[in-house]
Amino acid sequence: MTILDAHCDAPSQMLRHRDYTIDNPGAQVDFPKMVKGGVDASFFALYIPADMSEDQARNHAYAMLEELEIQMARATDKVAFARNAEEVAANKAKGLVSIMLGLENASPIGHDIAVLEDLAARGVRYVTLTHSEDNHICDSCTGKGKWGGLSPFGREFVKELNRLDVLVDVAHCADSTIREVLEVSQKPVVYTHGCCRALHKHPRNLPDELLKAIASRGGVVGMSIYPDFLSDSHTPGVGRVVDHIEHAIDVCGIDYVGLGTDYDGIDYTAHGLEDISKFRIILDVLHGRGYTQEEVDKVAGRNFLNLL
Ligand SMILES: [Zn+2]
Repeated sequence: MTILDAHCDAPSQMLRHRDYTIDNPGAQVDFPKMVKGGVDASFFALYIPADMSEDQARNHAYAMLEELEIQMARATDKVAFARNAEEVAANKAKGLVSIMLGLENASPIGHDIAVLEDLAARGVRYVTLTHSEDNHICDSCTGKGKWGGLSPFGREFVKELNRLDVLVDVAHCADSTIREVLEVSQKPVVYTHGCCRALHKHPRNLPDELLKAIASRGGVVGMSIYPDFLSDSHTPGVGRVVDHIEHAIDVCGIDYVGLGTDYDGIDYTAHGLEDISKFRIILDVLHGRGYTQEEVDKVAGRNFLNLL
Protein backbone atom coordinates (compact mmCIF):
# COMPACT_ATOMS: atom_id res chain seq x y z
CA MET A 1 0.00 0.00 0.00
CA THR A 2 1.18 3.51 -0.82
CA ILE A 3 -0.33 6.27 1.30
CA LEU A 4 -0.67 9.69 -0.31
CA ASP A 5 -2.08 12.96 1.03
CA ALA A 6 -3.18 15.08 -1.92
CA HIS A 7 -3.09 18.39 -0.08
CA CYS A 8 -1.45 20.09 2.86
CA ASP A 9 -0.21 23.64 3.39
CA ALA A 10 3.22 22.88 4.85
CA PRO A 11 5.19 25.44 2.76
CA SER A 12 3.20 28.32 4.31
CA GLN A 13 4.20 27.12 7.79
CA MET A 14 7.81 26.78 6.67
CA LEU A 15 7.81 30.49 5.82
CA ARG A 16 6.54 31.06 9.36
CA HIS A 17 9.76 29.39 10.51
CA ARG A 18 8.52 25.95 11.52
CA ASP A 19 11.41 23.52 11.31
CA TYR A 20 10.00 20.43 9.58
CA THR A 21 13.07 18.36 10.29
CA ILE A 22 12.09 18.01 13.96
CA ASP A 23 8.96 16.74 15.74
CA ASN A 24 7.18 19.98 16.73
CA PRO A 25 4.72 19.62 19.65
CA GLY A 26 1.19 20.49 18.51
CA ALA A 27 2.08 20.82 14.80
CA GLN A 28 -0.11 19.05 12.24
CA VAL A 29 2.75 18.19 9.87
CA ASP A 30 6.51 17.78 10.01
CA PHE A 31 8.83 15.19 8.52
CA PRO A 32 9.12 12.99 11.66
CA LYS A 33 5.30 12.88 11.97
CA MET A 34 4.98 11.86 8.32
CA VAL A 35 7.43 9.02 8.90
CA LYS A 36 5.62 7.99 12.09
CA GLY A 37 2.27 7.95 10.25
CA GLY A 38 3.59 5.74 7.47
CA VAL A 39 2.78 8.38 4.86
CA ASP A 40 4.57 7.65 1.60
CA ALA A 41 3.81 10.81 -0.35
CA SER A 42 2.30 14.19 0.32
CA PHE A 43 1.47 17.14 -1.86
CA PHE A 44 2.87 20.31 -0.33
CA ALA A 45 0.81 23.17 -1.72
CA LEU A 46 2.36 26.53 -2.46
CA TYR A 47 -0.63 28.43 -1.12
CA ILE A 48 -1.12 32.03 -2.21
CA PRO A 49 -3.58 34.20 -0.23
CA ALA A 50 -6.19 35.86 -2.46
CA ASP A 51 -5.30 39.42 -1.39
CA MET A 52 -1.74 39.37 -2.77
CA SER A 53 -0.86 41.31 -5.93
CA GLU A 54 0.58 39.36 -8.85
CA ASP A 55 4.13 40.42 -7.95
CA GLN A 56 3.69 39.62 -4.27
CA ALA A 57 2.12 36.28 -5.18
CA ARG A 58 5.02 35.35 -7.45
CA ASN A 59 7.63 36.30 -4.84
CA HIS A 60 5.69 34.39 -2.20
CA ALA A 61 5.51 31.22 -4.33
CA TYR A 62 9.25 31.24 -5.04
CA ALA A 63 10.09 32.06 -1.41
CA MET A 64 8.12 28.98 -0.28
CA LEU A 65 9.81 26.83 -2.89
CA GLU A 66 13.24 28.02 -1.76
CA GLU A 67 12.52 27.44 1.94
CA LEU A 68 11.13 23.98 1.17
CA GLU A 69 14.29 23.06 -0.74
CA ILE A 70 16.47 24.30 2.16
CA GLN A 71 14.54 22.30 4.76
CA MET A 72 14.44 19.16 2.62
CA ALA A 73 18.20 19.37 2.09
CA ARG A 74 18.55 19.06 5.86
CA ALA A 75 16.43 15.90 5.99
CA THR A 76 17.68 13.74 3.13
CA ASP A 77 17.42 10.70 5.41
CA LYS A 78 13.63 11.19 5.58
CA VAL A 79 12.28 12.97 2.48
CA ALA A 80 12.89 13.45 -1.24
CA PHE A 81 11.05 15.22 -4.05
CA ALA A 82 8.89 13.21 -6.44
CA ARG A 83 7.09 14.18 -9.64
CA ASN A 84 5.29 10.97 -10.50
CA ALA A 85 4.26 7.50 -9.35
CA GLU A 86 7.59 5.96 -10.43
CA GLU A 87 9.58 8.41 -8.33
CA VAL A 88 7.27 7.84 -5.36
CA ALA A 89 7.92 4.09 -5.66
CA ALA A 90 11.69 4.63 -5.95
CA ASN A 91 11.72 6.88 -2.87
CA LYS A 92 9.59 4.40 -0.94
CA ALA A 93 12.03 1.61 -1.78
CA LYS A 94 14.77 3.75 -0.21
CA GLY A 95 12.66 4.37 2.90
CA LEU A 96 11.99 8.00 1.97
CA VAL A 97 8.76 10.00 2.10
CA SER A 98 7.98 11.72 -1.20
CA ILE A 99 7.23 15.42 -1.21
CA MET A 100 5.23 16.49 -4.26
CA LEU A 101 4.33 20.01 -5.33
CA GLY A 102 1.06 21.75 -6.02
CA LEU A 103 0.28 25.44 -6.50
CA GLU A 104 -2.86 26.63 -4.68
CA ASN A 105 -4.13 29.71 -6.56
CA ALA A 106 -2.89 30.53 -10.06
CA SER A 107 -2.35 34.18 -9.15
CA PRO A 108 1.51 34.08 -9.25
CA ILE A 109 1.35 33.06 -12.91
CA GLY A 110 -0.64 36.09 -13.98
CA HIS A 111 -0.93 35.97 -17.79
CA ASP A 112 2.66 34.76 -18.20
CA ILE A 113 2.70 31.11 -19.26
CA ALA A 114 6.52 31.15 -18.92
CA VAL A 115 6.01 31.25 -15.14
CA LEU A 116 3.74 28.22 -15.33
CA GLU A 117 6.34 26.45 -17.47
CA ASP A 118 9.03 27.26 -14.91
CA LEU A 119 6.93 26.00 -11.98
CA ALA A 120 6.10 22.82 -13.93
CA ALA A 121 9.82 22.33 -14.61
CA ARG A 122 10.47 22.69 -10.87
CA GLY A 123 8.01 19.86 -10.17
CA VAL A 124 4.58 21.43 -9.69
CA ARG A 125 2.10 18.71 -10.65
CA TYR A 126 -1.22 20.44 -10.01
CA VAL A 127 -2.56 23.97 -9.97
CA THR A 128 -5.61 24.80 -7.87
CA LEU A 129 -7.10 27.46 -10.14
CA THR A 130 -8.19 29.88 -7.43
CA HIS A 131 -8.67 30.27 -3.69
CA SER A 132 -11.20 32.18 -1.57
CA GLU A 133 -11.95 34.89 -4.18
CA ASP A 134 -12.51 35.12 -7.92
CA ASN A 135 -9.20 35.66 -9.74
CA HIS A 136 -8.11 36.27 -13.35
CA ILE A 137 -8.68 32.59 -14.18
CA CYS A 138 -12.11 31.79 -12.76
CA ASP A 139 -14.77 32.20 -10.09
CA SER A 140 -14.25 30.87 -6.58
CA CYS A 141 -16.99 29.02 -4.68
CA THR A 142 -16.70 31.78 -2.07
CA GLY A 143 -16.35 34.66 -4.55
CA LYS A 144 -18.83 37.06 -6.14
CA GLY A 145 -19.16 35.33 -9.51
CA LYS A 146 -17.11 37.66 -11.70
CA TRP A 147 -16.97 35.48 -14.81
CA GLY A 148 -19.82 32.99 -14.51
CA GLY A 149 -17.18 30.21 -14.54
CA LEU A 150 -13.82 30.45 -16.33
CA SER A 151 -12.52 33.75 -17.73
CA PRO A 152 -11.54 33.79 -21.43
CA PHE A 153 -7.90 33.53 -20.31
CA GLY A 154 -8.89 30.78 -17.87
CA ARG A 155 -10.06 28.64 -20.80
CA GLU A 156 -6.65 29.03 -22.44
CA PHE A 157 -4.96 28.41 -19.11
CA VAL A 158 -6.66 25.01 -18.69
CA LYS A 159 -5.37 24.01 -22.14
CA GLU A 160 -1.85 25.09 -21.16
CA LEU A 161 -2.05 22.95 -18.02
CA ASN A 162 -3.12 20.01 -20.20
CA ARG A 163 -0.19 20.66 -22.56
CA LEU A 164 2.33 20.76 -19.70
CA ASP A 165 0.84 17.65 -18.04
CA VAL A 166 -0.03 19.63 -14.91
CA LEU A 167 -3.31 18.52 -13.34
CA VAL A 168 -6.16 21.00 -13.03
CA ASP A 169 -7.37 21.13 -9.40
CA VAL A 170 -10.91 22.47 -8.96
CA ALA A 171 -10.93 22.67 -5.16
CA HIS A 172 -12.14 26.17 -4.16
CA CYS A 173 -13.77 26.65 -7.58
CA ALA A 174 -17.39 27.67 -8.09
CA ASP A 175 -19.70 24.94 -9.39
CA SER A 176 -19.98 26.91 -12.66
CA THR A 177 -16.18 26.94 -12.98
CA ILE A 178 -15.96 23.19 -12.41
CA ARG A 179 -18.60 22.48 -15.08
CA GLU A 180 -16.71 24.62 -17.57
CA VAL A 181 -13.31 23.12 -16.68
CA LEU A 182 -14.75 19.67 -17.33
CA GLU A 183 -15.86 20.82 -20.80
CA VAL A 184 -12.53 22.43 -21.69
CA SER A 185 -10.01 20.02 -20.16
CA GLN A 186 -8.78 17.21 -22.39
CA LYS A 187 -7.37 15.38 -19.35
CA PRO A 188 -8.77 14.14 -16.01
CA VAL A 189 -9.42 16.87 -13.45
CA VAL A 190 -8.79 16.54 -9.71
CA TYR A 191 -10.43 17.99 -6.61
CA THR A 192 -7.68 17.74 -4.01
CA HIS A 193 -9.34 18.72 -0.73
CA GLY A 194 -12.97 19.01 0.27
CA CYS A 195 -16.00 16.86 1.07
CA CYS A 196 -19.52 15.96 -0.06
CA ARG A 197 -22.28 18.57 -0.11
CA ALA A 198 -24.97 15.89 0.15
CA LEU A 199 -23.72 15.17 3.69
CA HIS A 200 -22.93 18.75 4.70
CA LYS A 201 -24.04 21.88 2.89
CA HIS A 202 -20.86 23.94 2.48
CA PRO A 203 -19.80 25.83 -0.67
CA ARG A 204 -16.38 24.11 -0.59
CA ASN A 205 -18.02 20.69 -0.75
CA LEU A 206 -19.05 19.07 -4.04
CA PRO A 207 -22.63 18.19 -5.01
CA ASP A 208 -23.17 14.62 -6.23
CA GLU A 209 -23.58 15.86 -9.80
CA LEU A 210 -20.03 17.24 -9.85
CA LEU A 211 -18.51 14.31 -7.94
CA LYS A 212 -19.97 12.09 -10.64
CA ALA A 213 -18.86 14.37 -13.49
CA ILE A 214 -15.24 14.50 -12.26
CA ALA A 215 -15.12 10.71 -11.83
CA SER A 216 -16.77 9.99 -15.19
CA ARG A 217 -13.88 11.83 -16.88
CA GLY A 218 -11.27 9.85 -14.96
CA GLY A 219 -10.54 12.41 -12.23
CA VAL A 220 -10.09 11.78 -8.50
CA VAL A 221 -11.65 13.57 -5.50
CA GLY A 222 -9.65 13.93 -2.26
CA MET A 223 -11.66 13.91 0.96
CA SER A 224 -10.61 16.28 3.75
CA ILE A 225 -10.59 16.08 7.55
CA TYR A 226 -11.60 19.70 8.17
CA PRO A 227 -14.55 19.86 10.63
CA ASP A 228 -16.21 22.78 8.78
CA PHE A 229 -16.59 20.52 5.72
CA LEU A 230 -17.78 17.49 7.69
CA SER A 231 -20.83 18.49 9.74
CA ASP A 232 -22.42 21.15 11.95
CA SER A 233 -20.64 19.67 14.94
CA HIS A 234 -17.33 21.26 15.92
CA THR A 235 -15.99 17.92 17.03
CA PRO A 236 -16.73 15.36 14.33
CA GLY A 237 -14.66 12.19 14.66
CA VAL A 238 -12.87 9.90 12.23
CA GLY A 239 -16.16 8.12 11.54
CA ARG A 240 -17.59 11.28 10.01
CA VAL A 241 -14.57 11.61 7.70
CA VAL A 242 -15.17 8.04 6.59
CA ASP A 243 -18.89 8.81 6.06
CA HIS A 244 -17.83 11.38 3.44
CA ILE A 245 -15.35 8.94 1.89
CA GLU A 246 -18.04 6.27 1.67
CA HIS A 247 -20.51 8.69 0.10
CA ALA A 248 -17.90 9.72 -2.48
CA ILE A 249 -17.23 6.05 -3.23
CA ASP A 250 -20.98 5.40 -3.65
CA VAL A 251 -21.30 8.32 -6.10
CA CYS A 252 -17.95 8.16 -7.94
CA GLY A 253 -16.91 4.52 -7.71
CA ILE A 254 -13.96 3.08 -5.77
CA ASP A 255 -11.42 4.09 -8.45
CA TYR A 256 -12.00 7.84 -8.17
CA VAL A 257 -11.72 8.68 -4.45
CA GLY A 258 -8.64 9.62 -2.45
CA LEU A 259 -7.55 11.68 0.54
CA GLY A 260 -6.53 15.33 0.76
CA THR A 261 -6.39 16.37 4.40
CA ASP A 262 -5.67 20.13 4.27
CA TYR A 263 -3.36 19.78 7.30
CA ASP A 264 -1.44 22.96 8.11
CA GLY A 265 -4.07 25.01 6.31
CA ILE A 266 -6.72 24.52 9.03
CA ASP A 267 -6.96 25.61 12.67
CA TYR A 268 -8.46 22.38 13.94
CA THR A 269 -9.12 18.87 12.69
CA ALA A 270 -11.58 16.03 13.06
CA HIS A 271 -11.24 14.48 16.52
CA GLY A 272 -8.66 11.70 16.57
CA LEU A 273 -6.83 13.03 13.49
CA GLU A 274 -4.92 15.88 15.12
CA ASP A 275 -1.79 15.42 13.03
CA ILE A 276 -0.44 13.49 10.05
CA SER A 277 0.99 10.74 12.28
CA LYS A 278 -2.63 9.61 12.83
CA PHE A 279 -3.53 9.55 9.13
CA ARG A 280 -3.68 5.75 8.93
CA ILE A 281 -6.58 5.62 11.38
CA ILE A 282 -8.83 6.71 8.48
CA LEU A 283 -7.78 3.60 6.57
CA ASP A 284 -8.30 1.36 9.61
CA VAL A 285 -11.88 2.63 9.96
CA LEU A 286 -12.50 2.12 6.25
CA HIS A 287 -11.23 -1.44 6.61
CA GLY A 288 -13.46 -1.91 9.64
CA ARG A 289 -16.50 -0.98 7.54
CA GLY A 290 -15.86 -3.93 5.27
CA TYR A 291 -13.74 -2.55 2.44
CA THR A 292 -11.17 -5.01 1.10
CA GLN A 293 -7.44 -4.38 1.24
CA GLU A 294 -7.45 -3.65 -2.49
CA GLU A 295 -10.22 -1.09 -2.09
CA VAL A 296 -8.48 0.59 0.84
CA ASP A 297 -5.23 0.71 -1.19
CA LYS A 298 -7.01 2.61 -3.94
CA VAL A 299 -8.37 5.28 -1.61
CA ALA A 300 -5.10 5.46 0.35
CA GLY A 301 -3.13 6.59 -2.68
CA ARG A 302 -3.39 4.33 -5.71
CA ASN A 303 -6.15 6.35 -7.38
CA PHE A 304 -4.22 9.63 -7.27
CA LEU A 305 -0.97 7.89 -8.22
CA ASN A 306 -2.66 6.52 -11.35
CA LEU A 307 -2.95 10.12 -12.58
CA LEU A 308 0.67 10.99 -11.83
ZN1 LIG B 1 -7.38 25.01 0.23
